[in-house]
Amino acid sequence: MNQNLFDMLGGLRTGGEAVCFVLPDGRTISYRALIARSSQFANALVAAGVSPGDRVAVQIEKSWESIALYLATIRAGAVFLPLNTAYTPAEVSYFLSDAEPRIFVCDPARESSLAESSHDARIMTMSAAGAGSLPAMADTASREFATVERSGDDLAAILYTSGTTGRSKGAMLTHSNLASNAKTLVTAWQFTKADRLIHALPIFHTHGLFVACNVTLACGSSMIFLPGFSVDEIFRFLPEATCLMGVPTFYTRLLQDSRLNREATAGIRLFVSGSAPLLAETHDEWRARTGHAILERYGMSETNMNTSNPYEGERIAGTVGLPLPGVTIRITDLSTGEVKGVGEVGAIEVAGPNVFSGYWRMPEKTAAEFRGEFFNTGDVGVIDQRGYVSIVGRTKDLIISGGYNIYPKEVESEIDALEGVMESAVIGLPHPDFGEAVTAVVVLKPGCALTEEFIKQELSQRLARFKVPKRISFVKELPRNVMGKVQKNVLRESATQIGT
Ligand code: AMP
Repeated sequence: MNQNLFDMLGGLRTGGEAVCFVLPDGRTISYRALIARSSQFANALVAAGVSPGDRVAVQIEKSWESIALYLATIRAGAVFLPLNTAYTPAEVSYFLSDAEPRIFVCDPARESSLAESSHDARIMTMSAAGAGSLPAMADTASREFATVERSGDDLAAILYTSGTTGRSKGAMLTHSNLASNAKTLVTAWQFTKADRLIHALPIFHTHGLFVACNVTLACGSSMIFLPGFSVDEIFRFLPEATCLMGVPTFYTRLLQDSRLNREATAGIRLFVSGSAPLLAETHDEWRARTGHAILERYGMSETNMNTSNPYEGERIAGTVGLPLPGVTIRITDLSTGEVKGVGEVGAIEVAGPNVFSGYWRMPEKTAAEFRGEFFNTGDVGVIDQRGYVSIVGRTKDLIISGGYNIYPKEVESEIDALEGVMESAVIGLPHPDFGEAVTAVVVLKPGCALTEEFIKQELSQRLARFKVPKRISFVKELPRNVMGKVQKNVLRESATQIGT
């Protein structure tokens, strides 16, 4: 049987006239129309020289047609390579020189500025409104396309990791990585054709593309496809939806709006959060205001989704839940690699059909991150008696001060628990005596005026001396990337520059 992801996403086969996309202007796009458009794009890609195994890189605005292009690439047996729309021409140049795609699709407005970034790739264009050389070519192409035969181990996509340290690496995902994870999530989260998801995430990332879209396409449900996150648009569509998938910032922003209450969320059966830690406080406030317990899950570009709080059963705030069926998680010692027991903190390693096949053209880096079938996620965490996983930070964010290991999350949780604190980020900065000095960057709630001395004093009653920040600075907001992740590298850089 053809293991091509397109054939494995069952909802695509059975969708027919059912609605797949609801657009903000009220138009709807059926499964039949999506498949026909993907055939046209696939024919256009083949005519433009794409063969199985070739990479097709895209840096385009979100639209339903960009999902048709994703499916077209997969159907042609090629490898889909989505790029963050915020990347500059210099960054794009690196990705394209590394991945050597056959085709690079960009927005028509950026074509000239990206001309020199494309290397040997043929540049084609496509706008969110469906204009450009690729859609024009597709318009005249056949609405039929025979999906290319692929094995489960063939590559379907490459996602470049955000690369906050060193060069960005291309995570190679196979057809079966993506198909198996979509199937697992449909079952775990009880998705059916009747679901309607509010899709307000970007589609160049695992969350918006492989979780949100693949789950929808796997079960034949529909999505309200928004160009981005807007509080007003979410409130407009909540009454028509059954599910929202978001990053924690979606939830904190919605909580700031007085329209958020039980009535506004009455039709929703599932709120999912991921990509960055959801504060326990946000979880609790959300539950108090709406009656819903947000389901937090944990995954990454390299592995798709690893763990999820249960659909039925207790969703525990501050944890990322249990390993998904078929996924094995173990915690290992950060220096010796020895497998740790319940309640012991260490490196999170993961094995399963979801785990990628390696970094593109980086065999040494790949070998360094795998031990047998286990991939070292770079996250540090702990598993409790009941099997729930909690993440305490990234290995690279671990602070070593005076020979002691400090997990930023532990210090952040104590700071966040102080009355008047909105949130915080704890980082290590170079220090002549200690190696690194624990440093906190704190955001206060409006109207609150805590001092550095006060916070230090409070913390010294709760934390061992070596964990208490040596310096605390205050900012209006923490720097976050588009997926809501706090950019600790940015904090480290700016703090070093101002000599904090
Ligand atoms: P990315 O590859 O961009 O999706 O980033 C993956 C990383 O995001 C993971 O390795 C974690 O560090 C972080 N992450 C994802 N989901 C969660 C979560 N629910 N809680 C905390 N961190 C998360």
